[in-house]
Amino acid sequence: AVPPVGDGDSSIVTYRPYFSQAVAGGLGQYYALGTQSGDRGFFYASPVRDNFRIAGVVAVKFAVDQFEATWREGRAEIIVRDANDIVFMSSRPDWNFRAMSPLTDNQMALIAAANQFPVDQLLPLPNQSRSLNEKYSVIEIEDDGKTQSYVSSTSLIARAGWRVTILTPTGDAFALARTTAISIVLFLSLAALLAFVLLQRRMRQAERLAAQAAAQELLERRVRERTAELNLANTQLLGEIEERKAAEDRLRKTQTELIQAGKLAALGQMSAAVSHELNQPLAAVKAYAENAVTFMHRGRSDEAEGNVRQISSLADRMSAIAKHLRNFARRPQEKVKPVSLLGVVDDALALMQPRITGADAKVRYERPDAEISVIGGQVRLQHVIVNLISNAVDAMADQEDKQIDIQIQQDSDQVSLIVHDQGPGLDDEVMKLLFDPFFTTKDPGKGLGLGLSISYNIVRDFGGNLSAANHDEGGAVFVVTLKLAEPSSAKEAAE
Ligand code: ADP
Repeated sequence: AVPPVGDGDSSIVTYRPYFSQAVAGGLGQYYALGTQSGDRGFFYASPVRDNFRIAGVVAVKFAVDQFEATWREGRAEIIVRDANDIVFMSSRPDWNFRAMSPLTDNQMALIAAANQFPVDQLLPLPNQSRSLNEKYSVIEIEDDGKTQSYVSSTSLIARAGWRVTILTPTGDAFALARTTAISIVLFLSLAALLAFVLLQRRMRQAERLAAQAAAQELLERRVRERTAELNLANTQLLGEIEERKAAEDRLRKTQTELIQAGKLAALGQMSAAVSHELNQPLAAVKAYAENAVTFMHRGRSDEAEGNVRQISSLADRMSAIAKHLRNFARRPQEKVKPVSLLGVVDDALALMQPRITGADAKVRYERPDAEISVIGGQVRLQHVIVNLISNAVDAMADQEDKQIDIQIQQDSDQVSLIVHDQGPGLDDEVMKLLFDPFFTTKDPGKGLGLGLSISYNIVRDFGGNLSAANHDEGGAVFVVTLKLAEPSSAKEAAE
C-alpha cells in the first residue's frame, strides 16, 4: 500500500530500513547505493500522518558524489567508515566499498540482506595501524601493491556509528614537523639572538654605568683633593693674614717710633730758632722788670704797672711757644676723626713762625673764611704741614727771595692743601726717591730723610694722598689731599 520512494524500485522498497523505520512511525536514515541508479546516497525518511494513520512516507536522498569531490582537492585523504569498518565515502573513489577490517560471514549476510552494498564489490583494504597517542596513530595502507604511510586522526559520529578519518601522508607530516622544527630552531635562534643582543646591551649599559660611576668617583676624589688643597691654601692664607696683621702692627709701631724720631730731629732743627724766639721776649722781660723796679722806687706806679703788664703779655707769648713745642713732641694717641684743617694749619704756622722769620722767609697764605673739616688726626696732620713748610724753608736757604705760598682748594668730597716754594724744585733723581725712608740730600745732622716718608704714610692713613711736582713758575709743589668730613662735625672739632 506504500508507494516506492526515492529510487522508484518497488520490489525492494519494503526492506530498506529507513523506509521501514518511517512506516513504523520513526525517523529513518540510511546509507546505501541507490537500488536503481547504483549511486551512493544518504536516505532520510519521515512518516506522513493523516490524523492517527500513517498515510505515507517522505524520503530524501542526499547524493554524496559532489560532496565527496570537494575532498579530493586537499593533500590529505578523508575516509568515512561505517560500523562494519567499510569505507563508504572517501576522497579516493577506489577505496569506496573496501573493508578496513576482515568481515565475518554474519556481517556479510546482514549487508546482503539489507542490500546496503554490493557484496561482491566488498574487497579488503589491507592496513596496519599503530597508535601514537590518544588522538593520532600511524597507519600504513597497501594499495595497488604499494604501501603508503599516513598519520591518521579519527572522529566518531556516534549517532550514525560512523568514523571519519583524516589521513595525512607521513611525508607531509614529516615535512610539517621539519618545518615546525626549523621554525622552532629559527625561533629559538631568534630568541637566543634577542637574548644575546639584550644581554650585550645590558652589559654595555652596565659597563657604561660602571664607567660613569668611575668617572663620578674620580670627580668626587678630585673635588675632595681640590677641597683639601683649598682648605690648606685657606689655612695658609689665614696664617699669612695673621702674619701680615702682625707685620702691619709692627710697621705701625715702627712708624710711630719714626714719627717720634723725625719730630725730635725737627725739634733739634727748630731749637736754635726757638731759643732765639724765647731769648728775645726773655731779654725784654728782664728789661721791663728792671725798669719796673726803678719806676717803683721813684714812686711812678703807673709806669711800673705798664711794665708788669708787658711782662705778663710776653710770658703769654712764651707760654704759647712752649705749648706748641709740647704738642709737637707728644706721641699721638689719636684716632682718625674730623678735624679743623684751618686750625691745624694755624697751629703749624705758629709753631714754624720762629724758623720762618729766622730764615727771613715769607708765607703767603690765603686763609679761607669758612671752616673746613677733614678726616685725620690733629697732631699727625700738624706734623705733615710742619714738615712741608720746614722742607720749603730748607730748599730756599741759598736764595734771596724766599716765599712760601699756602693754598687750600676745596672739591665736592675732598680738599687739597698746596705748599709751593720758590726753591730749585725737584730733579728727576730726587723725584724718584723723595718718599723713600732715609733719603736725604741734606748734610748729616740736618736731615734724617724721614720727614716725607712718614708724612706720606700719615696722609695715606687718613685715606688721603701726598704728591710732589715741579711748579710751572719754578719751585716745588707739595699737595696734601684729604677727605672732607661733615661740616657740622668739623664745627664740633673746631670747638
Ligand atoms: P729730610 O728733610 O730729612 O732730608 P725729607 O724726607 O723731608 O727728609 O726730604 C727728603 C729729601 O727730599 C730732602 O733731603 C730733599 O732733597 C728733598 N726735598 C724735600 N722737600 C723739598 C723741596 N721743597 N724742594 C726741594 N727738595 C725737597
